[in-house]
Amino acid sequence: MTAAGLASLVPGAACVHLVESADIGIVGVGEATLPHLRAFITRLGIDERAFMAATHATFKLGIEFHDFGRVGDSYIHPFGTYGRSLGDIGFHHFWLRRHQAGAVTAIGDYSVGVVAAQERRFAHPGPDPDDLATGYGYAYQFDATRFAPFLRAHAEARGATRTEGRVDGVERDPASGDVRAIVMADGERIEGDLFIDCSGFRALLIGDAMDETWEDWSHWLPCDRAVAAPCASPPGPIEPFTRATAMAAGWRWRIPLRHRVGNGYVYATDHLSDGAATDALVEAMESPPLAEPRLLRFRAGRRRRSWVGNVLAIGLASGFLEPLESTSIYLVQMAITQLIEHFPDRTLTAADRDGFNALVDAEYDRIRDFLILHYHATTRSDSSFWNHVRTMTIPDSLAEKMALWRRTGHVSRYAHGLFLEPSWIAVYLGQGIVPAGWDPRADLPDAAALDRALAALRRGIADAVSGLPDHGAYLAGMGVAA
Ligand SMILES: Cc1cc2nc3c(=O)[nH]c(=O)nc-3n(C[C@H](O)[C@H](O)[C@H](O)COP(=O)(O)OP(=O)(O)OC[C@H]3O[C@@H](n4cnc5c(N)ncnc54)[C@H](O)[C@@H]3O)c2cc1C
Repeated sequence: MTAAGLASLVPGAACVHLVESADIGIVGVGEATLPHLRAFITRLGIDERAFMAATHATFKLGIEFHDFGRVGDSYIHPFGTYGRSLGDIGFHHFWLRRHQAGAVTAIGDYSVGVVAAQERRFAHPGPDPDDLATGYGYAYQFDATRFAPFLRAHAEARGATRTEGRVDGVERDPASGDVRAIVMADGERIEGDLFIDCSGFRALLIGDAMDETWEDWSHWLPCDRAVAAPCASPPGPIEPFTRATAMAAGWRWRIPLRHRVGNGYVYATDHLSDGAATDALVEAMESPPLAEPRLLRFRAGRRRRSWVGNVLAIGLASGFLEPLESTSIYLVQMAITQLIEHFPDRTLTAADRDGFNALVDAEYDRIRDFLILHYHATTRSDSSFWNHVRTMTIPDSLAEKMALWRRTGHVSRYAHGLFLEPSWIAVYLGQGIVPAGWDPRADLPDAAALDRALAALRRGIADAVSGLPDHGAYLAGMGVAA
């Protein structure tokens, strides 16, 4: 993504040299994405249909969560909004008022994205934001092992050179500490002005060479391992959503692609052994694994700074947050965008680095808090893992957000970072945190008139969704079905 982004977007400002090793390969399990990826693909001039065909992609309207707040609960976190705001009063305040009176159904019934996901329907949203049938966003579920070579070809076609082989050493300037060259296993030296460390969990430059401090967040996000295995796609509709199901010591993903279903169990080794996790995953899968289950080790956290000297880390080299909300590929994309905005000349100023690092920090912190919420907002007490996350001390930044919501129904706003109001509302309400109050201005409309308006909105959404095609049929119509 980084090589393709730089070669496409700042072709005159940099000569891009991509170094990667087919022997080492990529981590290859990033299959669920966020709507931002569409902007990335579009900016790179990539045709959506070609990208979807190459990566066996399906559309994604959100994530369906099961058993998080309480065993038996489920909700969808959609890419899109709920209902319609009235002026600057969010729709959910009106919904909360009538919910307290028992006069409304689940808030998901007022979201096109949720209802379309439930009915397995999909079409590209139209351009009119006021049209009920267009109030949703979408992302992709794809085969990550096909995305990397697809982008590599894109980067090379735009002038990036590529060296295949293993990096074996790093030469640093003794005075400044900057990296001068990387040394390949066959002895080749590759010099550069700016080195972008995309070496994944190995963190060859930011970790091994620059020794940048790792900020550990595993006390808040204790899952440190995943076991992953694909299985065959079942007959019938293809779900336009990713599913996350809470398990005894973590959670399990299910990601429907065109040619197979991706599955994985993300768990905490303090609470479950690898063998037990593998057995639990295989038992929960809808059909036998198509490949030997694969173990992946990680730790939640990030480098204190992602850009140090002339080394800038992107992707897993800069940090890791578990894929509960499909955020890692977004973080890669965000870092590329910020790098381009702070793109240095040969002088590499501290201001560029500080600006970049501050924005990356904010993004990581917001996502971290949002992920912790999924664990902490629970009444589950059926395993040592859930007892731990339910009772652990959470970051002050999250505690403040939750307190504000509980009291007023308002979602804390921030200038930088992922997850806007509807996302927080989805998880708060989906996991049973119903606020005591709401915006007092939501009390102004007459109750009967408000109920009529809410019912009309719900009917309008149901009608709009019933006009959308089946997701699988839509993919077939695009010429990208299996
Ligand atoms: C269990 C799990 C599930 C995930 N699910 C999702 C998801 O659903 N959605 C999402 O957005 N993200 C997800 N992610 C994260 C996602 O996989 C990564 O963000 C994404 O793949 C980018 O990884 P990367 O490029 O940083 O590292 P890698 O994919 O590990 O790539 C590292 C690259 O560095 C090269 N390299 C390493 N060492 C050397 C060396 N010595 N010499 C030469 N080359 C070298 C490798 O060849 C490779 O090309 C998941 C991660 C895990 C662990």
